[in-house]
Amino acid sequence: MLGESTGADLVIVNTCTVTGEAEKKTRKAVRRALREHPRASVVVTGCAAAIDAEAFRALDGRVVVAGKRELAEATRQADRLMELIPPLRSSFRAMPPRVDGRGEDPISVLRVGRGFPTRVGIKVQDGCDNACTYCIVHVARGRAWSRPADEVVEEYRRYTEAGVREIVLSGINIGTYREEGLDLADLLERLLGASSEARIRISSIEPRDVSERLIDLMARSDGRIARHLHLPLQAGSSRVLREMARPYSAERYVDLVDRLYAAMPSLSLSTDIIVGFPGESDDDFAETLAMARRCRFSKIHVFPYSKREGTPAAIRSDQVPPNVKALRAAALSELGDRLRNAAYEVRRGSVECVLVETNGKGMTESYFEIDVAAELSPGELVELRLP
Ligand code: SF4
Repeated sequence: MLGESTGADLVIVNTCTVTGEAEKKTRKAVRRALREHPRASVVVTGCAAAIDAEAFRALDGRVVVAGKRELAEATRQADRLMELIPPLRSSFRAMPPRVDGRGEDPISVLRVGRGFPTRVGIKVQDGCDNACTYCIVHVARGRAWSRPADEVVEEYRRYTEAGVREIVLSGINIGTYREEGLDLADLLERLLGASSEARIRISSIEPRDVSERLIDLMARSDGRIARHLHLPLQAGSSRVLREMARPYSAERYVDLVDRLYAAMPSLSLSTDIIVGFPGESDDDFAETLAMARRCRFSKIHVFPYSKREGTPAAIRSDQVPPNVKALRAAALSELGDRLRNAAYEVRRGSVECVLVETNGKGMTESYFEIDVAAELSPGELVELRLP
């Protein structure tokens, strides 16, 4: 909603608290919104706002802190939006009533067309019932809950009808999807049956939630469920995993990876690893390096451990010195680059389904970005030989 000459009437900032750095950037974004839009109400939502609402309210009287669900509901109904943000009453003309006689539509806006990415995310789940000792996200997001399968399937169908050819299922812990007796594999089966036009990608899944049925379904889907999984490892030492309260050991993780590769030899596996968790020794870190090589990761997101206030790991006295963390992060990143190159080399010359993106780029099923011919249209899914 744009005002006459002084910018927007409403700015929404979605905040993040996954690392200290992310939280800092979030506060900066709120301050910038206040500065650049002197008349706007600035709605702050997301994880950092859930953890410390007062810190955001204290920035300015124009800041409104709202939960994500509350905000999503308010943006569908003008009255509720104005209840949440009273100053909008003066600049907001009443929305005309829907003419099709339908009630509130939970999927009212499709994010397709100019300005939107070719790959679309559909949120299927939120929240987490785990309590990893370094993590504040499960506190910010609360208990796990799942969207009704009918709603997800309908949104998926509408996107495929609108021409979207890759859908990413997202959530905080999507492996825990449970709704009316359906789990993630059931939901995927329903999506596969709803339209054969799009490829489905599972964004990230906790190792303990990868069931045999899910592996089997992925293997049988012939690429309709991308043979790419992001499987957070976090540490390669069982002792460190225990202290992180991760619900698996290094041995179980390796066993899962072996079963995945056996079912899908072309599978691409990416992961997150934290280095320098409190008490992590040189030997623990050596186990992480060995594990990374063993699992042949195609991409490693390396996170030097950063304290999150309010978590058990933050108050441990055996914090790893910053210089040691930096050295370990550099060593793991260097290994990650080598493994990524090796993972691409084994694919070079093979044929994969590639989603054409903008600027002559495309995303392979195995999640490598490659150059594609300029005449291909963004959004198309085409079989290409990897250069
Ligand atoms: S699985 Fe662990 S790291 Fe992930 S959101 Fe839940 S508590 Fe946080």
